[in-house]
Amino acid sequence: MNIVLLGAPASGKGTQAELLAKKFNLYLFSTGNLSRDLAKKDTRIKRIIESGQLIPQEEMTMYVLDYLKQNKKELSNILFEGYPRFISQYQALDGFLKSKGDDIDAVISLDISRDEAIRRITSRRMCVVCGRSYNLITNPPATAGVCACGGKLVQRKDDSPNAVKTRFQYYRNNTKQLIDYLDKKRILIRVDGERPIEEIFKDLSNIVQRFK
Ligand code: AMP
Repeated sequence: MNIVLLGAPASGKGTQAELLAKKFNLYLFSTGNLSRDLAKKDTRIKRIIESGQLIPQEEMTMYVLDYLKQNKKELSNILFEGYPRFISQYQALDGFLKSKGDDIDAVISLDISRDEAIRRITSRRMCVVCGRSYNLITNPPATAGVCACGGKLVQRKDDSPNAVKTRFQYYRNNTKQLIDYLDKKRILIRVDGERPIEEIFKDLSNIVQRFK
């Protein structure tokens, strides 16, 4: 089973992906985390991320497929978070998995409005060590400013107001097209992301359970 979790910036997909991976013992593959790792050695990628832009779609596909080839022998039980974001990326991943005898079983879109996303983003914090996300209102850390792993919590550079506007534009232009494409293919499952974390998690768990 392979699942893709889509959603606008701050839709909660990172938090839900972590919970789902733990519950169903899935391999969590976050391309946001992969990109932030790449940015540590590549100033061009760092600039792209910090300005809220996306890495060029085919370039990102190359990083993703390379990563999978190097790190994942069995191409199943993967939860993809943040990839694919474009139709071309979906087709590349689908083709790659099929060539290895596997498949994408479900694509779930976590839906939230732009206003709600902007409201959440201002209170979002990320761990500098493990990359885990918190929300100061809806999902605060046990100790203020500190992650469960002990790392310091900071605001992501791409959560600045300007970067957020850019990210939304990208989301509207690209991921929205992918969502419409998948909707037409009838392989998209939509979940209302404007609810408490536990409620959303319950719905997502029921969906994932169907594919186990
Ligand atoms: P995220 O944490 O998912 O919001 O991703 C953070 C940043 O990583 C994005 O703003 C992009 O710069 C980059 N990134 C992650 N996934 C992709 C993707 N599928 N295609 C292009 N860029 C990506």
